[in-house]
Amino acid sequence: MTHTTTAPRVLVVGAGVLGVSTATALARGGARVTLVTEAAASSGASGRSLSWLNSAGPRTDAYHLLRTLGIDRYRTLAARLPGASFLRFDGGLTWAAPGSSYRDRYEHERTIGYDTVWLRPDEVAAWTPGINAEAIAEEGAVFNPGEGWVELPLLIEHLLREFRAAGGFLQEGVGAVTVQTRGGRATGVRTASGAELEADAVVLATGPSVPADLAQFGIEIPDATPISLLVRTKPVRLPLRAVLNTPRVAVRPTAFGTLVLDSAWSEEEVVPRGDGSYEVRESTVRGLLREASHVLEGEPELELDGWGVGPKPIPGDGEPVAGELEQVPGLHVLFTHSGATLGLILGQLTADEILTGTATPLLESFRPSRFATRLATV
Ligand SMILES: Cc1cc2nc3c(=O)[nH]c(=O)nc-3n(C[C@H](O)[C@H](O)[C@H](O)COP(=O)(O)OP(=O)(O)OC[C@H]3O[C@@H](n4cnc5c(N)ncnc54)[C@H](O)[C@@H]3O)c2cc1C
Repeated sequence: MTHTTTAPRVLVVGAGVLGVSTATALARGGARVTLVTEAAASSGASGRSLSWLNSAGPRTDAYHLLRTLGIDRYRTLAARLPGASFLRFDGGLTWAAPGSSYRDRYEHERTIGYDTVWLRPDEVAAWTPGINAEAIAEEGAVFNPGEGWVELPLLIEHLLREFRAAGGFLQEGVGAVTVQTRGGRATGVRTASGAELEADAVVLATGPSVPADLAQFGIEIPDATPISLLVRTKPVRLPLRAVLNTPRVAVRPTAFGTLVLDSAWSEEEVVPRGDGSYEVRESTVRGLLREASHVLEGEPELELDGWGVGPKPIPGDGEPVAGELEQVPGLHVLFTHSGATLGLILGQLTADEILTGTATPLLESFRPSRFATRLATV
């Protein structure tokens, strides 16, 4: 692609799903884009994500709309790539823990028009295969036929091919870069080796590092980022198609015939060592494999392949943080939970804002300025 000299130069920092999606949408729109990232693409949260595409359960109207638009963009991609192994829409099944009920959740989903079906345990197999009916809550389960999953590293590879074809430039392994400002405005970044790259706009998509990266500007973004653990099994022949969210384990099929698993309790058992590494106990991993086996038809033996551990970006109020910083014009930020579901839509909206200079009302309630911010001397 030939760029005009008036095309904006944009630096995107962080090659997880949000940075790659934004960089690709910018390059597609004619910007001159450089994407810089500390290590390899997908080496952060995007490389160890459950990646269930959903807007299940109660949330604000604006957030629900954004998530459904996120799913819509994946639907479009799936229609354009019918054979893609990394993106499936085979539904999601969820049931409540003993002592609680998901009836209200189901009623809420029905009221807002989210595709949802209430199923007795003996009805589940007719809708979605591979689940142990005896593990399902007695009251039944919620099946959301419109939900799906994505294999983020494969999506990222796919997007990077388009990014390069559109003239985008990727620099991996540059170490931690810092945003540079002049007169209070973002002007580029400095890489760990001291190289300075200039741009008209900078997008900070550094996942869980965003709050610390913004602290240098005196900007406080409340952070609820936990340490997460994603366990991968070896390939196993199973009929499972849906993403399962059950009280003790979440299970997702993958593009490789394996399963990935996570849960709240296993995350809590991870021990940070203090040097940036984590201790994952064998008992935790074995326990998760056992819980997963229990919810699957025939209770198959699951073999461990490996795991990914590290921070899962979550803003303090649970909602996305997206947009240009009032205090640092030219610096756009992306920091969110459910970044798999929102990956394509947030990239597209952020690129549009940079290319057109017009703020979209879709992101209005997600601006970083909703938090009390203070400007230090920069
Ligand atoms: C276990 C787990 C389960 C999840 N489940 C779901 C789910 O079911 N559904 C859903 O929608 N989402 C889910 N998510 C969330 C989703 O995966 C993340 O929101 C998303 O991957 C975050 O993408 P990102 O691009 O913001 O960050 P990352 O993928 O972390 O990418 C940020 C990149 O920036 C780089 N970087 C950081 N600092 C710097 C720096 N200073 N200079 C240069 N590079 C830097 C990092 O190396 C990294 O590659 C889950 C996440 C986890 C971990």
